[in-house]
Amino acid sequence: MFSLIIATRNQDKMKEIRAILKGLNIKLYSLLDFDEKIKIEENGSSFCQNASLKAEKASKILAGFCLGEDSGLSVDYLGGRPGIYSARFAGENCTYSENNQRLLKELAGVPAYKRKAKFTTCLALAKDGKTIELFEGSIRGMIAFMPRGNFGFGYDPLFYLPRYKKTMAELKPEIKNKISHRYRALLKFRNYLKKNLCKLQEDIDS
Ligand code: IMP
Repeated sequence: MFSLIIATRNQDKMKEIRAILKGLNIKLYSLLDFDEKIKIEENGSSFCQNASLKAEKASKILAGFCLGEDSGLSVDYLGGRPGIYSARFAGENCTYSENNQRLLKELAGVPAYKRKAKFTTCLALAKDGKTIELFEGSIRGMIAFMPRGNFGFGYDPLFYLPRYKKTMAELKPEIKNKISHRYRALLKFRNYLKKNLCKLQEDIDS
């Protein structure tokens, strides 16, 4: 069976990735499955650069194919911030709730029509420290005036989808995982795997 290491320790992301890739005949691991201490500096200047850094670093240390995932929220009114700094918008080691409070503070008094935003995920597939392919997905929405919903993670309670009249955190995981930025990027990865699985497997076996 084809094995794939997801270069993350984020269990919320991992849960979604497992659900979205369910049904593919591949064995998924995260960095939490390994004892090796893999310290990844996220110092790229785009989601894709950071995804590559994660995948390349992990695949230098662990044998086999690694998939790096970098994602975040870009708010139009904030010129694309927090973007690649989404995880630490309110400071190093801050909580999801602190990030959401910071976002609401920065958007205080900003009317609905100026609160457009986008979630992006970039995935990088790497082996032996080299990126082989990138896959990107995004979804547009708006920043709500207060958090709503308990599903999902991160900025989901503030990410409002006009089409559903709900925040991402009000959507059941089955729905989020069929429309999200992560789903869209993973769908491209899935299609790539379908076409290239034999070749990738040969690479491992040789
Ligand atoms: P990363 O680990 O640098 O990729 O940080 C991603 C950060 O972006 C997370 O900590 C969340 O704050 C945010 N984020 C990424 N994907 C999602 C999502 O699907 N929902 C809500 N927030 C997300």
